[in-house]
Amino acid sequence: MAINYISTRGQAPNLDFEGVLLAGLASDGGLYVPEQLPRFSREQILAMRAMDYPTLAFEILQPFVEGSIEPDDLRRLIDEAYGSFRHAAIAPMYQLDNNQWVLELFHGPTLAFKDFALQLLGRLLDFVLERRQERVVIMGATSGDTGSAAIEGCRHCRYIDIFILHPHERVSEVQRRQMTTVLDANVHNLAVQGNFDDCQAMVKASFVGPDFLPEGRSLVAVNSINWARIMAQIVYYFYAALALGGPERPVNFSVPTGNFGDIFAGYLARCMGLPIDQLVIATNKNDVLHRLLASGEYARRSLEQSISPSMDITVSSNFERLMFDLYDRDGAAINKLMQDFDGGAIQLSDSAMARARDLFSSCCVSDQETLEEITRVWQQCGYLLDPHSAIGTLAARACQGNPAHPMVTLATAHPAKFPDAVAASGVGREPELPAHLADLFDRREEFTVLAKDLPTIQRHMVDAITT
Ligand SMILES: *Cc1c(COP(=O)(O)O)cnc(C)c1O
Repeated sequence: MAINYISTRGQAPNLDFEGVLLAGLASDGGLYVPEQLPRFSREQILAMRAMDYPTLAFEILQPFVEGSIEPDDLRRLIDEAYGSFRHAAIAPMYQLDNNQWVLELFHGPTLAFKDFALQLLGRLLDFVLERRQERVVIMGATSGDTGSAAIEGCRHCRYIDIFILHPHERVSEVQRRQMTTVLDANVHNLAVQGNFDDCQAMVKASFVGPDFLPEGRSLVAVNSINWARIMAQIVYYFYAALALGGPERPVNFSVPTGNFGDIFAGYLARCMGLPIDQLVIATNKNDVLHRLLASGEYARRSLEQSISPSMDITVSSNFERLMFDLYDRDGAAINKLMQDFDGGAIQLSDSAMARARDLFSSCCVSDQETLEEITRVWQQCGYLLDPHSAIGTLAARACQGNPAHPMVTLATAHPAKFPDAVAASGVGREPELPAHLADLFDRREEFTVLAKDLPTIQRHMVDAITT
């Protein structure tokens, strides 16, 4: 039976998978979640052990898209999405010591885990758009990883124009070049003369403001509020746990966390029947979730720049999806809480907090500790971590409960994406870009510099749309 998707704030219309794929944010300001999750029995999970990554992905994702995408089409889209990865295992594991593992999620085209979701999302979108004979415009703001993964996911799409705004001269050169050297006609890089918040404000204003696109074109969001992104990330929790003896023994995960999308997928995997013991929220000094678990207060603080920039956030937008469950899926309660949160802080109920603490542990890691961890793991294990993943391995050791359960840290980015942090750690070794990006610094770039002015940006977009 096809899954119905409902909003966390209880007032938007229910949608099918195709609807949530195109919707992004719900019309009541909430986020879409499945009304019911598929559940796999122990026997079904045991049978998944023999599957390669694309077969497993098909098995797990099929119930979510039923009614919107035929099985054969889904299988083909999955094969194409993960066919772009540079490692035959798609998500290989590396053993750090007796029971500590790293799940390498950086073998996709842009060297970060976001490729897992965005390689599939671009193809799913293009598939349903072709069927509907519609074209859309994707608009997003990026401080780094999301933009390049979204661009790589959409560059071959025939029904999509993608516009990514980045703050001019304020993203790292590797990250900028990963976006601006993609020269496909439907890819548009806009360098905005402002900071990341300015870029985000332009995108937000375009989604909520008056329609500015030519008739028949709508705007689609590809940030992690899009349900399809979360869904795709469930798969690798199963993949890792099965490789380490699941479902016959529970496995722990430590997840470098920003917007709470990645670790929320781990929570869903557990709800779907996968034996997971601990889920560790690993944060940098932007520690809104760590403070929440400690105090019960969800409170926004100003942004602090860190050496793990992809986790520099003030609030974790996907946390609303968990709150919905913590409050027994009471949309009215979430609506009220999120409205109060506009003031900057809310207190969660004792029962919600008891549940949250039962589900998650957390650890906040400073820049200095991150650098020391990169060095320690290099010296003791001969393995080079990027700063985000290093936060994960440190948190894994700090929070590990039962040492008999394997602990898997999600390695969310390749170290060559963050060469400055690796150099600062003093390991005395430069991480090398993989072969497919080795000539990144010789490639031609294309981007347009624009003032941080909404009408200017929107006029440019309308003129640039390909037909
Ligand atoms: C996006 C990102 C994260 C954070 O993931 P969330 O789903 O936002 O919690 C962590 N590490 C890297 C390298 C990222 O790009």
